[in-house]
Amino acid sequence: MSIKYVAEPFRIKSVEPIRMATRQEREAKILAAHNNLFGLKSEDVYIDLLTDSGTNAMSVEQWAGVMRGDEAYAGASSYLKLEAAAKDIFGFGYVQPVHQGRAAEKVLFPLFLCAGKYAISNMHFDTTRAHVELAGGRAIDCVVAAAKDPSTRVPFKGNMDVERLEKLINELGAQNVGLIIMTITNNSAGGQPVSMQNMREVSAICKKYDIPMNIDAARYAENAYFIKRDEAGYADKSIKEIIAETFSFGDMFTMSAKKDGIVNMGGMLGVRDAESPLVLKVKANCISYEGFYTYGGLSGRDMEALAIGMYEGIDENFLRYRVGQMEYMGAKLDEAGIAYQSPVGGHGLFIDAKAMFPHIPYYEYPAQVLALELYKEAGIRGCDIGSYMMGNNPDTGEQLESEFEFTRMAIPRRVYTQAHLDVVVEALTAVKARAHTIKRGYRITWEPPVLRHFQARLEKISE
Ligand SMILES: *Cc1c(COP(=O)(O)O)cnc(C)c1O
Repeated sequence: MSIKYVAEPFRIKSVEPIRMATRQEREAKILAAHNNLFGLKSEDVYIDLLTDSGTNAMSVEQWAGVMRGDEAYAGASSYLKLEAAAKDIFGFGYVQPVHQGRAAEKVLFPLFLCAGKYAISNMHFDTTRAHVELAGGRAIDCVVAAAKDPSTRVPFKGNMDVERLEKLINELGAQNVGLIIMTITNNSAGGQPVSMQNMREVSAICKKYDIPMNIDAARYAENAYFIKRDEAGYADKSIKEIIAETFSFGDMFTMSAKKDGIVNMGGMLGVRDAESPLVLKVKANCISYEGFYTYGGLSGRDMEALAIGMYEGIDENFLRYRVGQMEYMGAKLDEAGIAYQSPVGGHGLFIDAKAMFPHIPYYEYPAQVLALELYKEAGIRGCDIGSYMMGNNPDTGEQLESEFEFTRMAIPRRVYTQAHLDVVVEALTAVKARAHTIKRGYRITWEPPVLRHFQARLEKISE
């Protein structure tokens, strides 16, 4: 079934040339990068779908805001503007800018986690898992079973499995669970949304066992769009109303603003109760690691652009176009018989590499195989969201087997057109046609202990 592309609700004022290197050049470049796509120069990439994080195109209003940025060390007007926007949209008493999402994690998590404590999440994003572990804790994913089958088309596959959550709390002992983290949308499960009903149920469990709930809120606007579209009782609510209700269930939030904030750099941390003693601890950590609490590592101009971008990101016409891009690609992949996490999520297509390379085991990284083939095929850069990204068990050093082997094609906001998306689908189709001829995957020849996928070196296993 063909789907009509939702035309861009903007026109283009400034352009950035891109170029496709030859196949021979691409093969040399990726080899020189040790088969790690993070090691490539951006100029050697034609269509860059490595991430939707910080790769967004800003609007004329945001660029005008950049000029208005107040660079005062303390109490800058740009900070006050950001604080007002965040309070207006999230309804939290205290909001703290930080330079990006992982900085919020670094500031907040050690206040709740230490050796012997657990964080349970619908799914931990990679940096979130890393900061749980850096704080000494252990991260447990507890997503609904439907998420694990890419072909099961049901709404809200990002949800927490509430039955299992309660079981886990009882097994571990509530006093040992330091945090419950609701990731919206559920990035690692394919940008899959979390329903309001699920937020409500998880919040009730948190209250019952007296465990704080943190919302990992990178894609709060996309999540709200899905709730409006697919959850009973929300069709007539505004995106803003839905966001306010979603956040009403959290005690804290950590947020990478590089996604739905439509900026190139930024993050935030929120505490519901401005009078909570937690606020002073957050401020102290922030001052030590990030910068004074009215800038947290951001320039005034960054905060100004973010305050504007947050409103643009919750515009329903924008969200319809954005999710429309994913649906357009999803329909084309259906036609081509290429499996992906379906229905499509909010920020990209998560191609099921396990389905495309059923003969390549998780410890030879099928999703990395597909990502590398796409680069060689058409200069497209995606990334592995699978066993390669997941890394090793921190206690035993053994390679973990991920629930999925996805190659993520993340779509930057307001950057690529319909024709670019067609190029991606054509390249995927070409790789699929020769997938059976690629018999083996890769082995890691060097890796760092934490967040290895950013830096590891890989070598093709000879066939
Ligand atoms: C991007 C992201 C983070 C980390 O944010 P950075 O800005 O990359 O540091 C954390 N959680 C989720 C769900 C994310 O998507």
